[in-house]
Amino acid sequence: MSESETKRPVDFIRRIIDEDLREGRHDHVHTRFPPEPNGYLHIGHAKSICLNFGIARDYGGKCNLRFDDTNPEKENTEYVEAIKRDVRWLGFDWEDREYYASDYFPQLYEYALDLIRQGKAYVDSLSADEIRERRGTLTEPGLPSPYRDRPVEENLDLFQRMKAGEFADGEHVLRAKIDMASPNVNLRDPAIYRIRKASHHRTGDAWKIYPLYDYTHCLSDAIEHITHSICTLEFEDHRPLYDWVLDNLATPSRPHQYEFARLVVDYAILSKRRLILLVSQGHVRGWDDPRMPTLAGIRRRGYTPESIRDFCERIGVTKNDTRIDMALLDNCLREDLDRRAPRAMMVLDPLKVVIENYPEDRDEDLPAPNHPTDPAMSSRVIPFGRVIYIERDDFMEDPPAKFHRLAPGREVRLRYAYFITCREVVKDPSTGAVVELRCTYDPATKGGNAPDGRKVKGTIHWVPGGQAIAAEIRLYDRLFTAPNPDGVEGDWLTLLNPDSERIVKTAFIEPSLKQAEPEARYQFERLGYFVADRHDWDPTRPVFNRIVTLRDSWAKVKNTQTENQ
Ligand code: ATP
Ligand code: MG
Repeated sequence: MSESETKRPVDFIRRIIDEDLREGRHDHVHTRFPPEPNGYLHIGHAKSICLNFGIARDYGGKCNLRFDDTNPEKENTEYVEAIKRDVRWLGFDWEDREYYASDYFPQLYEYALDLIRQGKAYVDSLSADEIRERRGTLTEPGLPSPYRDRPVEENLDLFQRMKAGEFADGEHVLRAKIDMASPNVNLRDPAIYRIRKASHHRTGDAWKIYPLYDYTHCLSDAIEHITHSICTLEFEDHRPLYDWVLDNLATPSRPHQYEFARLVVDYAILSKRRLILLVSQGHVRGWDDPRMPTLAGIRRRGYTPESIRDFCERIGVTKNDTRIDMALLDNCLREDLDRRAPRAMMVLDPLKVVIENYPEDRDEDLPAPNHPTDPAMSSRVIPFGRVIYIERDDFMEDPPAKFHRLAPGREVRLRYAYFITCREVVKDPSTGAVVELRCTYDPATKGGNAPDGRKVKGTIHWVPGGQAIAAEIRLYDRLFTAPNPDGVEGDWLTLLNPDSERIVKTAFIEPSLKQAEPEARYQFERLGYFVADRHDWDPTRPVFNRIVTLRDSWAKVKNTQTENQ
């Protein structure tokens, strides 16, 4: 058994598939991921992608990528390209099975003619408002349209003329003739085609009528021989319509729909409409802003695809809606990066330290392992000399009892280097601000250990004075201040966190990072995990985004800011 088979997740959908295979209802598994290209994919979609592609992988089956492109006004090729990029980045491959609902428009039209001929669809000439008014309520049946019993010939004629562009938007619709008294409002003669004089990103102006989602989706599944059509719970009430369409047409296969609970995460919005607003009104710097819950944003922020797949497995697949704390994803990420991210040093807010007893004309290269436990990750050297920088808040002139870092007269360890002792504090005479520390080092403590066994309580990070590289560091926090911004009806934009991005321009990184590549991830010791920004990285002006802090500091963030910011 391969590793993926032994570790295969178990959930109610996989149990249904197991049974279908056992009972011989299917001898293979074929799923699809069906995004509408009307926005970028977000972390919620990742759950659906991992489920659909994951099932195909686990059962030796196939998963199609199908663009559900039936709303010409809202869709475009930028979204198509972004979706493909993101699915690939997550680690999934649809091979040659890239499909579009719009490719089926001619076939869907033929199916509609078939329904009309069977007396199971009719052209309604009521307005959208009139149709809505007659739909009834959960307790009252709907009212049949006066056009419901139009003769087949008249329906065929009108529908063909709708297609030919003879009517204006909204003048007619094609409705399935099901049951105006059904307790399920989705079965009260739902519209299946509407007139839209809009240009489509793939079919151009060829079509004046467009099929609606419920009608299109089940037929696309059937055309593609999908065995298990997996979607989110809000479609549960639409399943009878899914079944009705397929039961009334001679389709090449008969798929079935299964519903699971969508992913909802705290402190984020996943509504596409709202995400579009954030981008179009400039509240963020684009779809791939590192604060966005989009896959493009999460990627730019520095999350690994492995951690997202791990997250999707851990949250599981159920029928109950639950809110998930993003801290869970952060923990998956920390586990992944702890293993894989090389260590390096950076100082965000530098304080100059002059080591008085270190010779002026000398410097040396100190070896530093790239990973504390994995020797295969090898090591680099860090130049050490008379001038170094440390983090400003690693020094306190008048420290409280629990402060174990540098203070006047105190000795600390410089990571991978020496013990140093603070001898003198130099201040700006006009402001009183500390501008420099004069220290001494103990040459016998090279590598960070004293031969006499004496201990120091603090170890701090540093960068060399002369050779460190100035870098721009972008620190991120939650985009929203409230846990459920998607659920807020009124002015949800007031919930935006004004401190969600802080750009630090004072930072220095160790010189070995000049060779970093865009998207390379590091653990900057004590500060967190960082990624070289995919787009803005430049070897002469490095830009790093903080992906996540080392510990789960969300809970503390609001009162203290993170310790090392
Ligand atoms: P809308 O239909 O409002 O444009 P959507 O979020 O449903 O937005 P789609 O492009 O239709 O976007 O989604 C593609 C697939 O991803 C669908 O099968 C949908 O059920 C699934 N999906 C969308 N959001 C989530 C989520 N939060 N959790 C899990 N699956 C999701
Ligand atoms: Mg949808």
